[in-house]
Amino acid sequence: MLIDLHTHSNASDGTDTPSELIDKAINKHLDVLALTDHDTTRGWNEATKALLNHPSNSSLQLVLGSEISCQDENGISIHMLGLLFDPTYEPLINELEKTRENRLSRMEKIVARLNEAGIEITIEEVYAQKQGDATLGRPHLADALVARGHVASREEAFAALLHNGSKYYINHYSPSPMDAIRLIKEAGGVAIIAHPLASQRGRVISMELFGELISAGLDGIEVDHRDHSDLEKSELLRLAIEHDLIVTGSSDYHGTGKLNQLAEFTTHPAQWEALESRARDRRVVSR
Ligand code: AMP
Ligand code: ZN
Ligand code: FE
Ligand code: FE
Repeated sequence: MLIDLHTHSNASDGTDTPSELIDKAINKHLDVLALTDHDTTRGWNEATKALLNHPSNSSLQLVLGSEISCQDENGISIHMLGLLFDPTYEPLINELEKTRENRLSRMEKIVARLNEAGIEITIEEVYAQKQGDATLGRPHLADALVARGHVASREEAFAALLHNGSKYYINHYSPSPMDAIRLIKEAGGVAIIAHPLASQRGRVISMELFGELISAGLDGIEVDHRDHSDLEKSELLRLAIEHDLIVTGSSDYHGTGKLNQLAEFTTHPAQWEALESRARDRRVVSR
């Protein structure tokens, strides 16, 4: 079975529409696909319709979710996957909207810093790179820098200018990971921490905070991910076994926006079953 529990569409910073993503998942014979756009549920409707109206007789199971941006008290960025939650639960949706709103002024500040350094780019050019109501992120700025010819690719934009340690970097409002877990679970969903030890992205969560998240009800850990080394994976696996947590593997696919290929890492069927059984309601979408 091919089970990929973390992907992005152009409802955030992926490049495929939700329909295209469903199409690709079916063509690649995935069995389970989760759509987890940053801080939003906006792609859910289109993805659901695309699956239900698909011309094939696909048995794909669609898991609706979101990758929630969080920050610890030291400003370290943490991503929390919320899966199978109730999208009408207002306290959670309000929190996502607060983050999305703050991403706009944050982007203006990053653009201003680039301009001060003589790198010409406007906020309008950044907006032109995103689909209507999508969650704005640095990848859209990267695409604008590519369009201007400042850099050749998203990868190069991040490596040269946009990475978390860059002097142009500014963070945006985000809930604490504790709040994110609480909200996901109040909404009946399952909380899986995404790529927790991906150290090349910047500073990562401390083991002390990891312990607090486990006490707060964290359901699982994304272990198999392109941004983890073998050593990081074995450390996370040990932690998961010690605390009886679900272990996932996933691609973090972003279309052409990243090298990550759909289902390049996958989740074991028994782990997926354990995950699904933790949701309050049976929300998986299938034909
Ligand atoms: P933001 O949400 O604005 O802080 O931007 C972070 C997002 O940028 C991540 O979730 C990734 O999707 C993307 N990203 C981070 N590093 C890279 C990279 N090297 N190449 C392409 N995309 C990246
Ligand atoms: Zn992303
Ligand atoms: Fe992430
Ligand atoms: Fe992601």
